[in-house]
Amino acid sequence: MSSVSKRYYSSARLLFGSLLLILLLFILLSLLFYHRLHQAQQIVSDVAERAVPAVLEASQVHDKVKELNLQSELLRNAVSQAARARASQQIRQIIVQISSLDHQQYVQHQYQQQRLQLIADEARSLDMLIAERLVLQQQSRRWLDTLSQLQQQSLQLNASQPWLLHYSGLLRDITALYSIDRLYNLRQSRTELNKALASNKEILKQLRSTEQPAADVLYQQLLDALFAERGILALLDAELTNIARATGKANFLRSLVTDYASETELNAYQSAASLMKLSQQSSDSLARQNQLSAALALTAILLLLLIMFHTQKRVIKRLKLLNMKVLAGSDFVEDDLLFSSNDEIAEIARSFTQYRDTVRAQQTALERQSLTDGLTGIANRRHFDTHLQSTVAMAKRIKQPLAIILLDVDHFKAYNDSYGHLAGDDTLKAIANTMATTLQRQVDLVARYGGEEFACILPNTSPEQALIMAEQLRLEVLALMLPHQASPTAGFVTISLGIACLKTGQDISDKVLLNQADKALYQAKSQGRNCTVML
Ligand code: GH3
Ligand code: MG
Ligand code: MG
Repeated sequence: MSSVSKRYYSSARLLFGSLLLILLLFILLSLLFYHRLHQAQQIVSDVAERAVPAVLEASQVHDKVKELNLQSELLRNAVSQAARARASQQIRQIIVQISSLDHQQYVQHQYQQQRLQLIADEARSLDMLIAERLVLQQQSRRWLDTLSQLQQQSLQLNASQPWLLHYSGLLRDITALYSIDRLYNLRQSRTELNKALASNKEILKQLRSTEQPAADVLYQQLLDALFAERGILALLDAELTNIARATGKANFLRSLVTDYASETELNAYQSAASLMKLSQQSSDSLARQNQLSAALALTAILLLLLIMFHTQKRVIKRLKLLNMKVLAGSDFVEDDLLFSSNDEIAEIARSFTQYRDTVRAQQTALERQSLTDGLTGIANRRHFDTHLQSTVAMAKRIKQPLAIILLDVDHFKAYNDSYGHLAGDDTLKAIANTMATTLQRQVDLVARYGGEEFACILPNTSPEQALIMAEQLRLEVLALMLPHQASPTAGFVTISLGIACLKTGQDISDKVLLNQADKALYQAKSQGRNCTVML
């Protein structure tokens, strides 16, 4: 009963569940691999499509910026309109080239394009300043000729030496103004020049009246050259102002260009850095996934090994044992290996036990039926014959005596005729019952030999003992006092008995023994019935 209350579990369901789990593990692994590969592919294509072009572009922009700076310098220092126009043209071309390099996908694309536009505007404005300066320089240089003419004219004058010397000095000072490169210095020199002009005027007044008019003309021409609306001083002033503005503009342009290049490099760096970060993250998660995959694969393998071990131990081994036991017809014990798990195999084993018990019960019943007499319930002739054979053999082997008794109901035909066949059957049952109760030893066998004849096998029984037992049987039957009015022997049912004995150490066959008993019985019949004969 304990095995019935034991929790039932299905080996088939367990196997199926484990295999399903392994399948799920493999599907999970495949999905993980697919996902990661897709991610890695994405990163590689991002690097190819974004990071590499961005870095290349940054390097190209860098080269162009260097070129742009060089051309800006050339523009700023241009000494002729042709050189200016060439440098300006180059700058425009470089800006167009940079603009075509600027990658559309950057967030700052719009902003960078605006910067380029600003650079182009500044370059154009620098170009205009330089063009203006070149014109100023040209005009300014013309005044040098005038100064040299004034020098020539002064030398032709017969003026007193001190004025002439002072005038020549003035002309030299004015020529020296052309080498001034700062407005501040020009304005300082201008004050000193005014003073020198005033003293020259003073010296001029001291000249003789014949010399004075000519010297005055030269003095006035010098004043005109200096202070006219577009005279030497005005032009020098405008030129230096222009140079200062051009320098400022050129510096501003350079810083704009440098900023643009830095921004482009920053973009490239950020793009590469973000991709590097992404690829680092991906590589980290790939490493983590590798560990997870290894763990999953290991779990699946362990699970598989477990299933194999379980199948071998709990299924195959037990099925083999079951087959062996079924073939050998052995008994199934409840604490056997077959019942170690309360599963399908245990159920089959239980069913076999049930089936085998039923077969055995049927077999026993059949055997019993085949060895028992249907009417009286004691052993039949077949049982008697086989039992006699084995008992005689045993008695001979262990050297023991053995006796057999054959008995026959007297005048039984007449009994049937008188009382009917059914009453005859009852009498046969009563006689059989009496014999069975009289011979109480376990080893004794009482059988119906055929019709109204019975036989007994008495192992380990001497002839004397056999004779006593036979007489006891006869008297017991007589004691039943079954009326038999048709019997010429007695008014009751009687039996005749024949005894045959196998004495100790004697070697005769069961058939001979049976024959002797039959002869003895025949003799008993001849002697008048209701008696025992032993030959
Ligand atoms: P004897 O004293 O010489 O033995 O005479 P008998 O009439 O007993 O012997 P016989 O062989 O002439 O007859 C035997 C009878 O036993 C005949 C048969 O009807 C009867 N008989 C045999 N078997 C059965 C049985 O199973 N039931 C009944 N009621 N009668 C049986
Ligand atoms: Mg007979
Ligand atoms: Mg008879």
